[in-house]
Amino acid sequence: MKNTLIAASLAVAGATAASAQEIGVYPAGSAPSMLASPENFTGHVVVNPLLPSSVDTPAASGLVSFAPAARTAWHTHPAGQMLIVTAGKGWVQREGEQRQDISAGDTVWIPAGVKHWHGATDVTAMSHVALTYILDGKNADWMELVTDDQFAGR
Ligand code: MN
Repeated sequence: MKNTLIAASLAVAGATAASAQEIGVYPAGSAPSMLASPENFTGHVVVNPLLPSSVDTPAASGLVSFAPAARTAWHTHPAGQMLIVTAGKGWVQREGEQRQDISAGDTVWIPAGVKHWHGATDVTAMSHVALTYILDGKNADWMELVTDDQFAGR
């Protein structure tokens, strides 16, 4: 009995010590998909959460799929954001600059504090993985929606 308890204690201690070192595999569908909030997005946008954020990975991560004409609102990120376009074609725009085309295979870096939006084009869907770094518990400051004129580049 005593040996069993010791063995169990060691197993728990071992699991705790090892957990920080383990490779974490988070299968597709580990977290439910959700529709993006109409407060911060225009159109039909589906967010699939990926890796949970942690001390070791201080970023929100998700696969975000935009239907044609769907886009984020204007926003900034306190610690920047990496976008990896996985499907389709879309647009990203920094305030005061022209829209830029983005396509599957492209990687985009959005520096901290830069006001911008990203989304599909008017006629093509676009999906990207977003790695949005967290500072003081926050990964985005949301602003006004992107108007149809802004979206069209007018
Ligand atoms: Mn962004």
